[in-house]
Amino acid sequence: MRTLNWMVTATLLLSLNAVAQQPADSQTSQPATTTSAPAATPDQMAQPTQAAPAIAQPAPPQAAPQPTTMDQVVDRFVMREKGLIKMLQTRTPVIETYLQNLTLDPALGPVPQNDKYFLGRMDLSTTIDRKDYIKDDQSMEKHLLGGFSKLFKIQYQPLGFSWMIFADRNDFDRQHYDFRYVRREFLGDVRCLVFDVTPKPKSGQGRFLGRVWVEDQDYNIVRLNGTYAPRPRNAYFFHMDSWRLNLIPGYWVPAFIYSEEGDFSAGVKNQMAFKAQTRIWGYDLKKDGASDELTNIRVDSVQDDSPTAQDASPLAASREWQQQAEDNVVERLQRAGLLAPDGELDKILQTVVNNIEVTNNIDLPRPVRTRVLLTSPLETFSVGNTIIISRGLIDVLPDESSLAMALTHELAHIVLGHNLGSKYAFNDRMLFSDESTYQNLGFKHIPEEEAAADKKAVDMLKNSPYAQKLDGAGLFLKMLNTRAGALNALLTAHLGNNMAEGATVTRMSTLMTSAPQVDWNKLDQIAALPLGGRVKLNPWDDKVELVKSQPVAITSARDKMPFEVTPFFPRLTRTGTTDTTGTAGNAANATPAPTTAASTKPN
Ligand SMILES: [Zn+2]
Repeated sequence: MRTLNWMVTATLLLSLNAVAQQPADSQTSQPATTTSAPAATPDQMAQPTQAAPAIAQPAPPQAAPQPTTMDQVVDRFVMREKGLIKMLQTRTPVIETYLQNLTLDPALGPVPQNDKYFLGRMDLSTTIDRKDYIKDDQSMEKHLLGGFSKLFKIQYQPLGFSWMIFADRNDFDRQHYDFRYVRREFLGDVRCLVFDVTPKPKSGQGRFLGRVWVEDQDYNIVRLNGTYAPRPRNAYFFHMDSWRLNLIPGYWVPAFIYSEEGDFSAGVKNQMAFKAQTRIWGYDLKKDGASDELTNIRVDSVQDDSPTAQDASPLAASREWQQQAEDNVVERLQRAGLLAPDGELDKILQTVVNNIEVTNNIDLPRPVRTRVLLTSPLETFSVGNTIIISRGLIDVLPDESSLAMALTHELAHIVLGHNLGSKYAFNDRMLFSDESTYQNLGFKHIPEEEAAADKKAVDMLKNSPYAQKLDGAGLFLKMLNTRAGALNALLTAHLGNNMAEGATVTRMSTLMTSAPQVDWNKLDQIAALPLGGRVKLNPWDDKVELVKSQPVAITSARDKMPFEVTPFFPRLTRTGTTDTTGTAGNAANATPAPTTAASTKPN
């Protein structure tokens, strides 16, 4: 896969703004030493202009004496699990599950048949509860464990996919479980102790059954893999693989859960087969419904740099107005946990936009900015001069010309003056709960504007450095077209226009006519990537960056997996002990000391 292509070509192509394309050394890539505080890894990403951290970072737990027996290790990670549950009680992260039901294709193996999408906000205070951003009558049943409500009438419970953020929220202890040490094993840079966990007989339904990986420094669980047993009547627990990341000192925070069911071996009768990715982010978001809503609405990124003696002309006033609306929406989406803060990835996106602008002699009164929507469904939209593109769409785009295709459609709207959303300059329109964002904001154009933007965008691309590479963009759309019928949820835009109508791709569809045919057996033809292959999201502060992965050779058509859900396998590293907010710069593990946090002790 050509993961690094963008970074290279984006730098080679004429880039007007001299952006340093060197990826910032992420703080998670620096393993901490065990004995001393490592040097601070400065956070090199641009900070958002507004939005101070909403909630102070929790203090790291006090270091405790190293356990000397496996029994002590078990006691320790049981205690740390309770500490994590307590730390997260003040948090309301965003949780997204994207699921593909599978069917067997004789040539390609299991392929998506249809899909489902859930997005909500979890409240981890007392019981795990969630509020959904997308109103779907069949997703409203709450408080169910993990799984289907009825075995024979398959209905997914969104809450079920989040169940394995903890092994067992209430009873993860020796009274309810047997723990058996298996071996030591590295997960990424982190040495782990591996334990098999089985519920004791008669300890109740829905207990965790599986394996946990425990890091050998603070003894936090970093991965859980298994299911729940025994199952209650009329419910079904699926299998899950749950990963945590060390995003703040002393804690490993639930970030990814992969779920999968299905057996396609010959003769198997079971019809249920799916793959699902659950992502959790926005741990540092402010809890919704705070009373200081009004004071949060600020437009402080607007700087009045006009000469002081001048009054605004009607046109200047209307541009100011548009800018206010734009800033309000961007700030509100970020506060709802739907938009990444301005960062490194935006510099790459802006370079591509600049390439189009320069070669088309586009000179706009205000610069075009870009931001990344944190969700999976493939969509783009623009608010004033800000182009917003979803993480899921960036993930599946195979090359820079396809990225240019996606961004240029929105740039065309801006150039053509299809301004939407100036009504959001009225601040009262920003006063809604986070989970009702999709009901209160919308940036869908009428079909005539869509057609005009497509036409303008194709013209602009043909004048651009991407003119000779539009085959790649056309091939991407063709591949999307072959899968569109099965990927309705992935292709349902929640704020912008859909890229397809029914099973037919409509966005920039003229590019498909000149593109080569989709050829599954041509192994070097990569029309689209699997989900999750490009963008790395920090679940604590919502920052995004490009994944730095080595290309893996494709050896058969089944390896291509365009638009598909794949398992997670994050490279685990320990975070540095210096945080980015500057509130808690002490070394978490430097000094062994008795545990003083009584609240983290098991009951
Ligand atoms: Zn459009």
